[in-house]
Amino acid sequence: MKTLFLILVSVSIFSCQRSTESDLNQAVQTHIEAKSSAEAEDACQKVFVKALNESTTSKVMCKALLARTNAELSICEDEIADPHFSNLIADCKTELATRIEQIKTERNQEVLTSADLNFKFPFEIQYRDIQSGYTAVSGDVQNKQVVLTFDDGPHPTLSKNVVDILNRVGVKAHFMEVGKHVQEHPEITQMIAKNGNSIGNHSWDHSQFTKLSFDDQLKQIADTNKMIINTIGWIDPFFRYPYGSTTPEMNQFLKTHGEANFLWSIDSNDWKKINADQTVRTNAQVIQETLDQIDQRGRGIVLFHDIQSRTIELLPTFLTRLHERGYKIVLLQPSDLNSKKNSRIP
Ligand SMILES: [Zn+2]
Repeated sequence: MKTLFLILVSVSIFSCQRSTESDLNQAVQTHIEAKSSAEAEDACQKVFVKALNESTTSKVMCKALLARTNAELSICEDEIADPHFSNLIADCKTELATRIEQIKTERNQEVLTSADLNFKFPFEIQYRDIQSGYTAVSGDVQNKQVVLTFDDGPHPTLSKNVVDILNRVGVKAHFMEVGKHVQEHPEITQMIAKNGNSIGNHSWDHSQFTKLSFDDQLKQIADTNKMIINTIGWIDPFFRYPYGSTTPEMNQFLKTHGEANFLWSIDSNDWKKINADQTVRTNAQVIQETLDQIDQRGRGIVLFHDIQSRTIELLPTFLTRLHERGYKIVLLQPSDLNSKKNSRIP
């Protein structure tokens, strides 16, 4: 009887181990194939949440995590740092912390810090007529002009780092915010706005609009508009679809309600932590790939995320290289400044 019990226990631990390992395999694959920040972020989080719900032991979790390469482990960086999951990795906290430090060192070779930013960027505010609709892809800026955008925040700590870096070089940027994050951290949205940046609408919870009814799409935009107006007293009439997934009926609605469809032309893919060949995606690589796109077009709207610690790590070097190339940073504003306080979104 005792033997049977021991066999059952070891079989169940073994199958638990197998399932955690295959969940992690799946997460790595999902992250590599992800098309957006939100999708990539979810990959490892799902594994941790499932493990928590199934009361997976720290022993099982640690064995599965420590068996991973640094590149694979990098996709779980945020979860490993999250106090919410700390019991789940109680047995290997120190080892994991050391591995994450190694990953950061590997990722951060040859990058500058904000203390290295000893220059001011040429900066200009430009106005666009949004009244009867406007689709921003390149921002219609001139050659050697770039618009900076940061999506998916506000974030309790990282957004402040972005604002500090921007202030250091004397430029402003667009923050496309998710309504429910504004509800969680209104003081961060206030801080970003107070520093002269633009606050736009990036839906309530980052849902894919192509999967929602028109009424639900409208609710996503209207709730976020209300939340941001209640928080800072205004909102720029700029809406950015999650994943850039536009819908014809909402495009039409935006046009008739004086709201810009605010897309981007340069994607930094700053959320991607691992390359298809399973190596760590370094910050130097993200910077180079982004600059290559800018060099090719000579202008454009750049997409970053202020919810990624790696974005803070790479921003000083990115800005330095962009400055060396003779670019100017542009912030877009509606020609009718009253529209900031009188949104036509119901
Ligand atoms: Zn987004």
